[in-house]
Amino acid sequence: MINLVLFGPPGSGKGTQSLKLQEKYQLMHISTGDLFRKHMRENTDLGKEAKSYIEKGDLVPDAVTIGMMNDKIEHSPEAKGFIFDGFPRTAAQAEALDRFLNEKGTPVSKMIALNVDDDELVKRLLNRGKDSGRADDQDESIIRNRIEVYNEKTLPVASFYEKQGKYVAVQGVGTIDEIFARLCAEVDAING
Ligand code: AMP
Repeated sequence: MINLVLFGPPGSGKGTQSLKLQEKYQLMHISTGDLFRKHMRENTDLGKEAKSYIEKGDLVPDAVTIGMMNDKIEHSPEAKGFIFDGFPRTAAQAEALDRFLNEKGTPVSKMIALNVDDDELVKRLLNRGKDSGRADDQDESIIRNRIEVYNEKTLPVASFYEKQGKYVAVQGVGTIDEIFARLCAEVDAING
């Protein structure tokens, strides 16, 4: 069983690459951002709570996010492994994920980070905002806040996996296929 954490700032290509990895390696893709947006569309209590944070580009509180993730994993017994996209984003989330997966005997195999510089991220997100309909992709100050939150709260999660010898980073700039090839080389190295 392979469990991947795909890591990187907003706009680094995690979603795009997750879809390709999911297909190639037959893993289940879980994006906490997608799950929150689904809850918001369906106007659930969780969706209502998440909305106020997402609109500002802030993180949804850990308890809500961790509960939603554990629930999703529990309800996916058929999965042959997972790609975690946009999770964990805080040290508390990383610890919770480790506890949860270790109890199941299927720990995180590797965290792969996509490196992209800030100006390129802002450009990509504003571009995506033109047709994604995502309000948080349409306002440069919200985008900048998301990048700031990432640098402050999420970046430290990399060292959590680095200490376990599970962290690698690849260049997140180039064509989609070039970046995918870099990721595949890292995934293929897991069992080899
Ligand atoms: P994303 O689609 O990954 O860019 O996430 C969109 C928004 O959802 C983020 O800006 C956060 O407000 C929220 N979100 C997604 N994943 C998490 C997480 N792991 N922890 C807290 N908030 C999250």
